[in-house]
Formats: sequence, C-alpha cells, structure tokens
Amino acid sequence: MNNHAIELTTRDGSQFRFNCTDDQNLLAAAADAQIVLPAQCGYGNCGTCYADVTQGDYTLGKHNPAALSLEDKQKGGALLCCTFPQSDLHISLPFDHDRVLIGEIKIRSAEIIAIKTVGENTLRLELCLAPDENGGNGAEFEPGQFMELEVPGQDIKRAYSLSNTGNWEGKLEFLIRLQPGGLFSNWLKEQAAVGQMLLVHGPKGSFGLYESGLKPRWFVAGGTGLAPMLSMLRRMAEFQEPHPARLYFGVNRAEELFCQAELTALQTELPQLQVIYCLWKPEDNWDEFCGTPVDALTQDLMSTTVMPDIYLCGPPKLIDAAETTARAHGVPDNQILSERFLPA
Ligand SMILES: Cc1cc2nc3c(=O)[nH]c(=O)nc-3n(C[C@H](O)[C@H](O)[C@H](O)COP(=O)(O)OP(=O)(O)OC[C@H]3O[C@@H](n4cnc5c(N)ncnc54)[C@H](O)[C@@H]3O)c2cc1C
Repeated sequence: MNNHAIELTTRDGSQFRFNCTDDQNLLAAAADAQIVLPAQCGYGNCGTCYADVTQGDYTLGKHNPAALSLEDKQKGGALLCCTFPQSDLHISLPFDHDRVLIGEIKIRSAEIIAIKTVGENTLRLELCLAPDENGGNGAEFEPGQFMELEVPGQDIKRAYSLSNTGNWEGKLEFLIRLQPGGLFSNWLKEQAAVGQMLLVHGPKGSFGLYESGLKPRWFVAGGTGLAPMLSMLRRMAEFQEPHPARLYFGVNRAEELFCQAELTALQTELPQLQVIYCLWKPEDNWDEFCGTPVDALTQDLMSTTVMPDIYLCGPPKLIDAAETTARAHGVPDNQILSERFLPA
C-alpha cells in the first residue's frame, strides 16, 4: 500500500497537509487527520466536496455526473469523497480556511418553534438550539452554509441551507420544498410539531460570500435555492455592505412564490438590492420577468460592463445552465459560486 502526501491550499492561501493511502478517499483521510472539509453525502452524489487537483495523479471513483460536470473534470475538478491518490497531490480548495473545521462536526439538539407553509409545497421550519455542553446557546454559522437535520428516532439525515444569519439566541431557519414521497418531507408534513426535538449536524458547506472587493453580487435562485441567498443578503444588510446586489428568484408558477414580504423588508435595509421575480409559466396578469432566472441573467449579462460575482443555488439543471451562460459572457470561473440541491 502506498502512502501519499496531500497538500491542500484554500482560496485565501492557508495550507493543510495529511497522508492518504491509494485505497482511501481524500475526504476520509483528511477527517482521520482531524481536518473536516465541507462535504455532505460522502459518496459522489451531491458535489459539495468539489476541489481542483493542480498537481499529481489520482483515480476518480463512481460519482453522479450531475455533481461533477465533464468540463470541470477535464480541468482537474474532483469530488474529494471519491478521489483516490496515485501520487502525492496538490489540491486547490474553492473556499477560505474558515470553512475547514479542525476536530469533529458538531451535533446538537434543537426544538421546533414554528412550521409555516409559505408557498405551494414549501415550508419555513424554525428551530431553536438547546444549550451545548458549555451552556452556550449561539447558532454559529456563515451565510450560505447548510445543516443536516435528522428525523427523530430514525437514521435519516437531510441537508437544508440556513436562511437566517448566525445569532446568540440559537435560532435556525430553513426553507424546505416538500418532495413527493420524500422521507424527511413526509415526516415534516405528517408528524413534525412545535415543541418536538431533533438533532442537527453542522454547520457544513463552503458556499457563501466571496470577498473580492466591491464587485456587484448577482444571486440566482431556483425555488428553495432562495434560502442561502436570503442568508447572504441578510448578512450584507447587517454589515451594511455597499456592493450593488441583484437577486433573480425563479419558480414555475405564481402560487409557488414565497418570501416576497421578507425580500421587500430586505430592500429597505439594503436599498441597492434589486429583486427580479421570474416565472417560467406565468398567468396573463404577470407583469414581471417571464422565463427562468437563467434567461433573466443572460439578458443582463449581455449589457453589463463590470463582471459580477455570481451566486447560484437550486436544482442542478438550473445551475449548469447558469454556469454555461456566465462563462459564455466572460465571467471568470472564480467569480461563479454554486450550490446544487441534489436529492439525498
Ligand atoms: C448542500 C445541500 C443543501 C440543500 N438545501 C436545501 C434547502 O435549503 N431546501 C430544500 O428544499 N432542499 C435542499 N436540499 C435538497 C434536499 O436535501 C433534498 O431534496 C432531500 O433529498 C429531500 O429529502 P426528502 O427526505 O424529503 O426526500 P428523499 O427521501 O431524499 O427523496 C424522495 C424522492 O424525492 C426525490 N427528490 C428528493 N429531493 C429532490 C430534489 N431536490 N429534486 C428532485 N427530486 C428530489 C428523490 O429522487 C426521491 O424520488 C439541499 C441539498 C444539498 C445537497
């Protein structure tokens, strides 16, 4: 068995080193060395552990093509949970060092404090964390991150992005699309109730605001892909960040829209925020954008002179289409940040 030296460099230049044998995947070997990298499914399905191999040889194991595009694969893109080294490797991580956890993922207990239908098949779930082992109540996470929620009494965890921002009261807020026949969705619809406790794992994930000067920030959300965008925009409002900001928020039909009141409130706190609601199948009386958020993005990219940082979240097909149009209009790869909502 050969042992290989692995060197990881984060976007802000920090380095982490560990060893990995050629039958071990990089994510597991890093975790054995107490280096916990952003990841979710652990078997090549979700794309959360994406990184670029800049030097060395490796084998990629079985993975979902929706989680790693051919284009990314050809330029050295890999999913760390199914990457096996064949030599020493240098790897570039597409996030800053603060997303790397030294130790173990936190698991905490949380109480359901509200469940509210906000749109067709979409709920807002609000939780309050129970105090941790040191008596701390705080919900510490970065905007854009997600948690895994565990169905009480069952060994089932599902990833959901946080839509609020970190706070000392322990509040966690999620926007959840009820998936037909989904295990977590069914539990939420039929059994979950205010006062019930569940376990939350995290925070996890590397999606989030990219500090790159004062470039405009354009956020493209499909359905509940709005959740991490709301979190990032709320953080921008809290910190009064001056970046020009635009949110393209798309669903199929008007009944599926949600969080308009929250977005209007955000616009008073963040006056430079433009919200473009996009309906793919509008009724005759719809007077905002007709088409997908990717259509609206494409239209605006044609007339922009400053390349914005682009944040994408939602179904994989929407992300792929948005990445393609952004690249075609000259947006550099490091200004395109995405989170794919893939099924567990
Ligand atoms: C990092 C990350 C963050 C996420 N954040 C959110 C979020 O904030 N809000 C949110 O609503 N979802 C989010 N998702 C997606 C969510 O985790 C999945 O949809 C999850 O599988 C739903 O669990 P379930 O138990 O209800 O359905 P499952 O039991 O997992 O699935 C049951 C059936 O529904 C189908 N299905 C499930 N999810 C999807 C989907 N997304 N698209 C198409 N078909 C699906 C499955 O193929 C299966 O047939 C996120 C996913 C990831 C990877």
